[in-house]
Amino acid sequence: MASTPVAITSKPAGPGPDPALPSPRPPTAPRSFHVLAKPSGPICNLDCEYCFFLSKEALYPGDRFRMSDALLDTYIRQTLESETGPEVVIAWQGGEPTLMGVDFFRRALVLVEQYRRPGQQVSHTIQTNGTLLTDAWCELFAEHDFLVGISLDGPAHLHDAYRVDKKGQPTFDRVIRGLDLLKAHGVAFNVLCTVNAANQDHPLDVYRFFRDDLGAEHIQLIPIVERQNETGFQEGDTVTSRSVDPDAWGRFLIAVFDEWVSRDVGTVFLPHHDAALASWMGLPPSLCIFGETCGNAVALEHNGDLYSCDHFVEPAHLVGNITETHMVELLASPQQRAFGAAKRDTLPKYCLECRVRFACNGECPKNRFTRTPDGEDGLNYLCPGYFAFFTHIDGLMRIMADRVRGGGYADEVRGILAHAGRNEPCPCGSGRKTKHCHREARPVEP
Ligand code: SF4
Ligand code: SF4
Repeated sequence: MASTPVAITSKPAGPGPDPALPSPRPPTAPRSFHVLAKPSGPICNLDCEYCFFLSKEALYPGDRFRMSDALLDTYIRQTLESETGPEVVIAWQGGEPTLMGVDFFRRALVLVEQYRRPGQQVSHTIQTNGTLLTDAWCELFAEHDFLVGISLDGPAHLHDAYRVDKKGQPTFDRVIRGLDLLKAHGVAFNVLCTVNAANQDHPLDVYRFFRDDLGAEHIQLIPIVERQNETGFQEGDTVTSRSVDPDAWGRFLIAVFDEWVSRDVGTVFLPHHDAALASWMGLPPSLCIFGETCGNAVALEHNGDLYSCDHFVEPAHLVGNITETHMVELLASPQQRAFGAAKRDTLPKYCLECRVRFACNGECPKNRFTRTPDGEDGLNYLCPGYFAFFTHIDGLMRIMADRVRGGGYADEVRGILAHAGRNEPCPCGSGRKTKHCHREARPVEP
């Protein structure tokens, strides 16, 4: 990353007081929310070239970056008592959270049982690079039904382009070894794949590798957008050479969608597709980036500092520390509510008039640093890709949404595509003949 964060020295790591749940509950507090906890801060055993977390080390100079047991207790208690719904997700991320060791997570699980309300269901997720996994880790994950997110960017030659260790060595084999261990223990996993300059032109190689070679059923795609300058819009602002190209991002999403809709709906799950289907059904999307507003997904640092979002771990977006102010008050604070509302309130007119805004909503504010054709600031860098993607999927999304609304299933779209006449217009509405469009969906002919 090009910029150096300003150091925060106001709150040292370590135990502090433990604020009680405010009563009554602040009226602006969200009923449901998501905390990404980073027990080892940004510290990682690898050195992926595009990682934006590594530069966050500069926020806490001289820090050991380890969540204390006292803070762990505070965090688990506040999370469980703040959530009003019956389900809570305890989500761990980094850096590399496995650097904390298995025993840290066993202590967390004991605390969950201690503070869990009757009837409250708690599920556990952890995002890891997979290279430090052992039988002991996998036994823990299997025992407590963790969903483990593994960071992988495709087959070896694409993954190793940027995902290297501190010595610049490739990591693919070590990640696969970790993944094989997870599978051997029957641990549920999903693949988190960043789309970057190296793999952006190989969508089907990447997708088929995950689906066919790894047996992945959940695949999350994350575009890499690294700005050269992160201090607001400036003329000539550019991104690094590792960043995904906006048009290539659109082509990537479209290629994966076309393969998925032809044969994998109902068996392979991609958050972009789930979120899009929700939008076409008039429901709130499951991904914050496509929501009208955000602000309910916060990041918790190793010392209790709570930030507005994992993508905004920076001084201006520090909301407070949970050892000083209860998490629910921080979530309800005017600062955090304004952060979430700004996603909607700062949309340029170009987005407001866009025909796919209902599904895109200008995507994530962190990527809104380009100008609209008429010169307004705040357009999303990925806009061309998203516009192409949402326009492309419109016809088939309408079909899927209609089926679900009618009490059917989204995967019925596969049958519709498979049985369309070869010379008839493709049901997707492209205007092309089916044989020249979603022909992949056709049954194998003898
Ligand atoms: S800033 Fe982006 S990633 Fe963070 S909550 Fe808002 S939309 Fe989601
Ligand atoms: S596709 Fe582009 S113009 Fe349309 S809402 Fe998304 S970012 Fe805005």
